[in-house]
Amino acid sequence: MVNFKLDDMQEGLKELAHEFAIDEIRPHAEHWDENSEYPKDAISKAHDLGILNLHIPEQYGGMGLGCMEEVLVNEELAWGDPGFATAAYATALACAPIITGATEEQKQIWLRRVAEEGHLASYAVTEPGAGSDVAACKTTAILDGDDYVINGEKMWITGAGYSDFFFVLAKTDPEAGYRGMSGFIVEKDTDGFSLGKKETNMGQRCSDTRSIVFDNVRVSKDHLIGGSESGGWMNAMKAFDVSRPNIAAHATGLARASYEHALQYSNERMTFGKPLHQHQAIQFMLADMKTKIEASRMLTWKSANESDEGIRNTESAAHAKRFAADTAMEVSTDAVQIFGGYGYSEEYPVARLMRAAKVMQIYEGSSQVQRMIIGREITKDF
Ligand SMILES: Cc1cc2nc3c(=O)[nH]c(=O)nc-3n(C[C@H](O)[C@H](O)[C@H](O)COP(=O)(O)OP(=O)(O)OC[C@H]3O[C@@H](n4cnc5c(N)ncnc54)[C@H](O)[C@@H]3O)c2cc1C
Repeated sequence: MVNFKLDDMQEGLKELAHEFAIDEIRPHAEHWDENSEYPKDAISKAHDLGILNLHIPEQYGGMGLGCMEEVLVNEELAWGDPGFATAAYATALACAPIITGATEEQKQIWLRRVAEEGHLASYAVTEPGAGSDVAACKTTAILDGDDYVINGEKMWITGAGYSDFFFVLAKTDPEAGYRGMSGFIVEKDTDGFSLGKKETNMGQRCSDTRSIVFDNVRVSKDHLIGGSESGGWMNAMKAFDVSRPNIAAHATGLARASYEHALQYSNERMTFGKPLHQHQAIQFMLADMKTKIEASRMLTWKSANESDEGIRNTESAAHAKRFAADTAMEVSTDAVQIFGGYGYSEEYPVARLMRAAKVMQIYEGSSQVQRMIIGREITKDF
């Protein structure tokens, strides 16, 4: 049986996140974006309310909830403001490879710090010369006595300026391609670790994005995730099976916010003697926007549900992420169109939402990369 009805706990969580978005996110979203201000207090409040990092298991101090609960919350947070949602989700992404690949002792340390002390973390994989092609990473971690010495640079790291620790993918065997990659935890105050300047991005400007540099950074062996070399690439990629449904949920929330603004405006704005929505061309635009949002949510829920059921969801997560991200871009662009000249002004939120949408087609695997994944999955038996 397929049941699309949420249970009482899920409804309650969704409502809690929605109220938080109304009270603590929307009133500040324009200010955060205009001033490129990191929403540190709001992230801290969301943590205290218990709506972040829901997938950390109870035995490590977390809520132990599923991907389904996370996507419900993330749609609401992004409805509030996509930049806030991205900034707040960075820690959950960094925790994903710890949950799947770390030793019991490592989980007790790092996951507890997030769940109980509100520590923030970043997922550091991309490099100046390696984005879609992760295997081209050049950062190395070479064993020297009881320490690994890390050298290299990571690029576009969300939350870097505020994170307490980082999940870092580095090559322990530079000759072995992706098989020679290992995951490490690096704390922000480690000698030789430094931050680059904050990027000036097109949208989602409250989210802090910057490079990080490793200049002979020494970490002890117990910072090697899982306690053994290699397997880092697989672990880093597995994180996407959990995170992509959540990015799809962000995209759905962004599209929904854009659509709601456009629908409201179409009832207020008169042209040729009637409200905009009474012109069929506009009404059909609104209808198509709504259909794509509904479809985005269904793909998101399906991939989240598969993750919770222990079903391999690599393909469904790619469908959800690709479709929802493209929908966010299309719907927010159409919302600007429905607002006409006013849509082009930063006076109204639809311009900010359209700028925010673009990165959803780029990060966490671009829309092209999602198609590559889907293509690989559907042809693998040939
Ligand atoms: C705001 C922001 C936040 C980010 N946060 C993080 C983070 O927290 N951690 C992290 O590790 N990374 C992060 N990233 C990096 C992001 O994941 C990469 O930018 C993304 O994977 C694309 O890599 P690239 O920029 O190097 O583009 P490239 O890989 O150089 O690709 C350029 C273009 O070519 C396309 N392309 C590449 N290869 C192919 C192919 N084989 N076939 C067809 N098309 C192809 C891509 O889709 C893209 O459109 C972030 C990026 C941004 C912009």
